[in-house]
Amino acid sequence: MLTNDQLGQWDRETFFHPSTHLAQHARGETPTRVITGGSGVHIEDRDGSRLLDAFAGLYCVNVGYGRPEIAEAIAAQAKELAYYHAYVGHGTEASITLAKMILDRAPKNMSKVYFGLGGSDANETNIKLVWYYNNILGRPEKKKIISRWRGYHGSGLMTGSLTGLELFHKKFDLPLSQVIHTDAPYYFRRPDAAMSEEQFSTHLAAELEKLIETEGADTIAAFIGEPVLGTGGIVPPPAGYWEKIQAVLKKHDILLIADEVVTGFGRLGTMFGSDHYGIEADIITIAKGLTSAYAPLSGSIVSDKVWKVLEKGTDENGAIGHGWTYSAHPIGAAAGVANLKLIDSLGLVDNAGKTGAYFVKAMQDALGNHAHVGEIRGEGMLCAVEFVEDKADRRFFDAGRKIGPQVAAALLKQGVIGRAMPQGDILGFAPPLCLTQAEADTVVAAAKKAVSEVLG
Ligand code: PMP
Repeated sequence: MLTNDQLGQWDRETFFHPSTHLAQHARGETPTRVITGGSGVHIEDRDGSRLLDAFAGLYCVNVGYGRPEIAEAIAAQAKELAYYHAYVGHGTEASITLAKMILDRAPKNMSKVYFGLGGSDANETNIKLVWYYNNILGRPEKKKIISRWRGYHGSGLMTGSLTGLELFHKKFDLPLSQVIHTDAPYYFRRPDAAMSEEQFSTHLAAELEKLIETEGADTIAAFIGEPVLGTGGIVPPPAGYWEKIQAVLKKHDILLIADEVVTGFGRLGTMFGSDHYGIEADIITIAKGLTSAYAPLSGSIVSDKVWKVLEKGTDENGAIGHGWTYSAHPIGAAAGVANLKLIDSLGLVDNAGKTGAYFVKAMQDALGNHAHVGEIRGEGMLCAVEFVEDKADRRFFDAGRKIGPQVAAALLKQGVIGRAMPQGDILGFAPPLCLTQAEADTVVAAAKKAVSEVLG
């Protein structure tokens, strides 16, 4: 068996980690963490630590770790048929069954599922579909995509452009010219403290409409948004937001892509975030919770309205020129089928709503009065604690002080994993949907200690 030192050396010498400070890691200034196992909401590492993962990996291990039902489904599929492609009408029992199961759970206007591997490639697919759609409809100028500052939609060329976080653009020559950003529905950071939630939503919808009119509605194809902003800070929208935004989009004949990579399959206490907020999307992006990350799989759920145009396009032009080798990979599909069955049999959507609400309230009770906690917000099994230098006038800490990462590090010392969100001093939580109230209490107690260690 390899020693930890040997693994650490190989890691620094050979492994190019995603979203990592490369130079610091290569110099050995950040540790190599080798994760060896997991069960329920806990993971274990090679140093023998057992940690409560209150971020479910990257908000993806929704059913929790170590579920034999999914592992067995993967093994059975691998033995029977590990791979065949899905081009020109091919499929497996697992991929066809999964498409049917997704559609049975999706909003009623949805028609078909295209399978990919991860959230980024699913959103790349979505933008191509939107462009194709407008070309088939004879509107070649209607191509720009509006996304929000602080939105997260992936880190490819187009999806990194859609993502509204500076780190994903800087030095990569992004965003691409077809992408425009509008303001985030971030009530805590509203421009005028006196605005109500409804007023702020009205303001955002008016800003969106101004942007559309300036650019020209006939140049704008789609708007993409997460029902609840995720990586941008875990921010539920202000009251009335989705209703007002959808009214503007409808008026200007702009498609709506709901990026449900985080919110799909129960995280908000409803099967989809669209159900929770009354969003009627034209395309829905799914990934993460689709397989609870037991295997890579994503999807683009396409509405009837879009599907009809895609069909017309192929009648006029031949087969759709879009496909991945691993679209509808049988092992991912088998994991997805077993995962969706587990979500149902364990009642996890319901638990996400109930235990999630308990968790957010417990966090508010424990930390809401702290002098440097500006806001504690959440929806379903999502929660964020935002730190401020001064509460009364919502003055933020200097980013250089790295308050968020310090609190996350102190939390880790308590045996609990939270995530310092990449922009702002925000400690995020997105536990597996099977979290119990007792486990929620453990997370809250650890968070309270971590905050007092860093901020007094
Ligand atoms: N959309 C959203 C809302 C996400 O949160 C993520 C990943 N965090 C993505 C897309 C991209 O998914 P992936 O990392 O699987 O490419």
